[in-house]
Amino acid sequence: YNAEVTAITGAGPNFELQLSNRETLQTEAVVLAIGLQGNPRKIGVDGESDDSVQYTLDDPDEFSGETIVVIGAGDAAIENAVALARNNAVIVVNRRDEFARAKEGNLTLITRAIEDGSISCFFNTGVASIEPSTAINLTTETGETRVVCDRVIARTGAIPPRRFVESAGIRFPSDDPTTLPELSGHYESNVPGLYVIGALGGYPLIKQAMNQGFEVVEFIKGDDILPADHGILEGKFQHLPYRKNVDDTLALIRTSVPIFENINGLVLRELVLASELLTPKLGDVIFHKNDYTNSFMSIVDGEVQVEIDDEKFITLGRGQFFGEMSLLSGRRRSATVRASADCVVLETPRREMIKLMNSYELVRKIVDQHFIIRTLRAGLVPDAPQGELESVAETAELVSFRAGDILFREGDSADGLHLIRNGSVSVSRNIGGRDIVTTYVAAGNYVGEMGLVGETRRSATVKATVATESIFLRGDVFQTMLLRNSGLRERIQNKVKERISENLRMEAAPDAGDLISFLMQQGLGEATDVLLIDESLCIGCDNCEKACAETHDGTSRLDRAAGPSYAQVHVPTSCRHCEDPHCMKDCPPDAIRRAPNGEVYIQDSCIGCGNCERNCPYDVIQMAGPKEAAPSLFNWLLTGSGAAPGERLTANGPNAIKKAVKCDMCKDLSGGPACVRACPTGAALRMSPSEFVTLTKRAN
Ligand SMILES: Cc1cc2nc3c(=O)[nH]c(=O)nc-3n(C[C@H](O)[C@H](O)[C@H](O)COP(=O)(O)OP(=O)(O)OC[C@H]3O[C@@H](n4cnc5c(N)ncnc54)[C@H](O)[C@@H]3O)c2cc1C
Ligand code: SF4
Ligand code: SF4
Ligand code: SF4
Repeated sequence: YNAEVTAITGAGPNFELQLSNRETLQTEAVVLAIGLQGNPRKIGVDGESDDSVQYTLDDPDEFSGETIVVIGAGDAAIENAVALARNNAVIVVNRRDEFARAKEGNLTLITRAIEDGSISCFFNTGVASIEPSTAINLTTETGETRVVCDRVIARTGAIPPRRFVESAGIRFPSDDPTTLPELSGHYESNVPGLYVIGALGGYPLIKQAMNQGFEVVEFIKGDDILPADHGILEGKFQHLPYRKNVDDTLALIRTSVPIFENINGLVLRELVLASELLTPKLGDVIFHKNDYTNSFMSIVDGEVQVEIDDEKFITLGRGQFFGEMSLLSGRRRSATVRASADCVVLETPRREMIKLMNSYELVRKIVDQHFIIRTLRAGLVPDAPQGELESVAETAELVSFRAGDILFREGDSADGLHLIRNGSVSVSRNIGGRDIVTTYVAAGNYVGEMGLVGETRRSATVKATVATESIFLRGDVFQTMLLRNSGLRERIQNKVKERISENLRMEAAPDAGDLISFLMQQGLGEATDVLLIDESLCIGCDNCEKACAETHDGTSRLDRAAGPSYAQVHVPTSCRHCEDPHCMKDCPPDAIRRAPNGEVYIQDSCIGCGNCERNCPYDVIQMAGPKEAAPSLFNWLLTGSGAAPGERLTANGPNAIKKAVKCDMCKDLSGGPACVRACPTGAALRMSPSEFVTLTKRAN
């Protein structure tokens, strides 16, 4: 029909579809496979549909010598404008006075391009009309302007399909924009005869959309074939002690683990497909304390012991779960967990669990409650009865902060305590009229206790260094906990003493505070491991980059010279192995993983979509083509043949698929990262931010 469906009304077998070409279709069933990209938002002025106006850009090198107007201020607009500016005159139209929605790297690129004149930009400007292939008329702050151009590229976002989908009667379990519609085992929505498949149903790969399309069409024709993933699930269940078929095993998982009791059958199936079923035997370790894994574990059968310390154990049995602390905070495992009987444990990757929590409010609430109770037990009241902690958790409130948001200011009246759930915060005090950072507090810890014992006013300002979530406990609830738990007052008083002496030390050394503040601005508040270069020792030999290239097929994953410096500490462009890696958030084949040592690495299953490159705020991911076999260092030194270490080698042909590459902390090398080992002066250091902050404080 070559037309857009603008409305779907009715239910099977009596659907009516309105098409954009004004035709109407009557159908018995509808299969929605409209993806999540939505439709590009049109400019909304005369001339918007002309051939010289386009809403996507496949290949910027297709155009040369043209004058092109790019409308928009987001990442897509900036990336298009910068790429087109190589061979064309580019003018950007931004309806605001800044590029507030762009990620850091793109902001730098566009600012630099505007400054050096390679791109011109109209700020606070709207579009009045388009004269096809001739000009665009703009409404600027000083009046109307006509700009002569060959082409207009509008990158003003897409209209999300949710409203359209809901208008057809399909229900979503929550208002969260990432929620998926509720579907039956045959992908049928709550509207009989209306099916949802592909990306819109939460399946990010082409093969899934194709398999589902086939299954649904067969089902509509009356042939109830087995789903394509049936064999995969059979294989997954083979080693379990149950000897049950796929449907019965899924039912058993549902009845054994109450948190999954009310989730949709298809969602459970997907969750189990993405998960591993572990069968640890009595005494086997499921994960170790300090591992950097962040999966969620549900006990389908058996019993485990959580080893809090050498003397303290907690036993968890069938239906209970563990691993939620690292899942939510992104930090290391806080305890070792060992099977205390033969077990069946469902290990669910973080991404699937977060998706489930976003879709099911009840699942989120249960996981959050356990997080609060276990954080209180670990940090504040280890001996409080479970009932008391449950009522405290009931009153707690989850609060989200963007990077730079203030949790509270010095001098505010103290109204409660924040348990940092993920992200991190900096603590600063006004000293001599200047805000001096005295420390940073990572996820899993708390802030705000000083104002609740003795003092009534906040003694410091606390600011989110990165996007942060905290669990807020009201002051009155905390005071009741203080009265009920004799050890708590003493613990808090010790903490207050510790913080007062730390404050005094930092007040005497404001430079250390400035350095911590600089590092937080570079995203170290969410890093687990970062490469820092001591500029007082660095001789600029670039051995670090060369060694990195030598160990990674000729492409260095670190840019030594790029990145800012402060007080002789340089933060090169290199992966921070973030606690909650941004790059992992939207990887269709789930190719980005995190190893127990914290390293975030990319598997060969990368399909080169570039999402991670766009999502990393620190610009450390590159899309690289396949490399020719790199010559060995010896070969190059002795024979001079082949490319030098660090030299960029050509990809195999113009159509070679590029894949994402980044620092993997040299996971396959014993002895640690090549960059650090190659440094002749000891200038290159890899460490966790807390180690660095501690060193900074000690040095002053
Ligand atoms: C750059 C990139 C590379 C990728 N590479 C791979 C890869 O190598 N392998 C892989 O498995 N996956 C890959 N993916 C993911 C893959 O593209 C998606 O999983 C897949 O496209 C989803 O298919 P879909 O049919 O659900 O939606 P889409 O492919 O988004 O198709 C939706 C279609 O519906 C149309 N439509 C929307 N609304 C309406 C309407 N109202 N009326 C009529 N038509 C409408 C749209 O125009 C579009 O043609 C990649 C994704 C990206 C962004
Ligand atoms: S690639 Fe970027 S987002 Fe991913 S872990 Fe590294 S620094 Fe963080
Ligand atoms: S480019 Fe990045 S996000 Fe895309 S598939 Fe590869 S690793 Fe995943
Ligand atoms: S190897 Fe060491 S001295 Fe050489 S450039 Fe890198 S950090 Fe500087």
